[in-house]
Amino acid sequence: MSRQIEGVKGMRDLLPGEIELWQHVEGLARELFGRFGYGEVRTPMAEDTGLFVRSVGEETDIVGKEMYTFDDKGGRSLSLRPEGTAPAARAYIEHAINNKEPITRWFYMGPMFRYERMKTGRYRQFYQIGAEAYGSKEAAQDAEMMDMVVQFLGALELKDVTLNLNSLGDEACRPAYHAKLVEYLQAHREELCEDCKRRMETNPLRVLDCKNPTCQAVAAAGPNVLEFLCEPCRAHFDDLQRKLTVLGIKYVVNPRMVRGLDYYTRTVFEFIASHPALGTASTVGGGGRYDKMMKGLGGPDVPAVGFAMGLDRLVLLLKESGRTFTSPPDLFVAVADEGSQDAALALASRLRREGLRVDFDTRGGSLKSQMKRADKSGARFTLVLGEAERTSGQAKLKPMAGGDAIPVALDDVAKTLRAARLATAQAGPT
Ligand code: AMP
Repeated sequence: MSRQIEGVKGMRDLLPGEIELWQHVEGLARELFGRFGYGEVRTPMAEDTGLFVRSVGEETDIVGKEMYTFDDKGGRSLSLRPEGTAPAARAYIEHAINNKEPITRWFYMGPMFRYERMKTGRYRQFYQIGAEAYGSKEAAQDAEMMDMVVQFLGALELKDVTLNLNSLGDEACRPAYHAKLVEYLQAHREELCEDCKRRMETNPLRVLDCKNPTCQAVAAAGPNVLEFLCEPCRAHFDDLQRKLTVLGIKYVVNPRMVRGLDYYTRTVFEFIASHPALGTASTVGGGGRYDKMMKGLGGPDVPAVGFAMGLDRLVLLLKESGRTFTSPPDLFVAVADEGSQDAALALASRLRREGLRVDFDTRGGSLKSQMKRADKSGARFTLVLGEAERTSGQAKLKPMAGGDAIPVALDDVAKTLRAARLATAQAGPT
């Protein structure tokens, strides 16, 4: 017997039954982000490896350990995108968008790839919905973006998600903080894990991200980045907090939050859910300002702010809420006799053209087995089509939830089912 080939570890199949949850989340995002003026951008799945090295940073876990990097047949080093901000920035620069408009708002959704240790809420192919706003350095832009996330989570009816906020300063004030942090970490060198001993030299901020409890304890007692902010960065951070208050958005300031990427300046934020279903994967989304990244990538000097939400985690939370998003068929067409098979196929086709969801067993078979299928399909009504119905042009709609059958002319099936749909919608959820 030949070996069964299985899917790649950490990369999941999303099947009907679950996919409706995904579509619900994606649909809400499209609609809501559109209201905020964000247009969708789709970038390729793979990019020049250098893009991520130069933006996300060589010393980050993402680039250092987790990228799917390979040489193509022409010898170019490509990487499957581990995140969406750098590809969007690359596209923004390549298409010289800054010459076309002063402010640009983009959103994206799609798969990202990181070779991570698998656990609940953490996969190797996972999905993000993200947004980027280019061209404004103002705190109002940060606040608008957080408002969009808050409204999005509200539309998803997800509660108990806390907004964590911090500022990492800029090139004027961060060096002093860096120096202090390195000095502090040097003094605690022996308590740090091997990775952090290295990070301390190459990128000390990364130590604050380390999952190791001892490193976390060291980091917690270290210097506070907010005490090092220069006047403009302090004013920006104060302004942001004031604006969030104006918008009625609750937040907590968390000076230890640095996020795992190198490109952030000033504002960083994370949305953290408290639901136990997520375990340690409780961050549903995060982002920040990256005013220097465009220039660093050889592009124009354009400030930007962005965020990304983990779709897998949002879906996990929605699943926990027990809500369902599947739409059962309006009708199941069953065939009473062999000779009515074609007429049933044609009836199903016509009703679908008229906008109805219709199920139909193409295998035919006994009426009993078809009725079993009708039950399983969750269809609201079943119509049995046989010679009698064909000759008279009259049939019956049998409500699958019980109750009296409704006599109907075959020409009026769509009209009657639509009226039934409307009546249910008006009656509200059952
Ligand atoms: P990041 O780009 O690391 O800030 O990630 C943004 C969001 O994407 C996180 O808050 C998570 O919700 C989600 N995410 C990141 N990595 C993974 C992963 N390996 N599996 C599932 N979701 C992830």
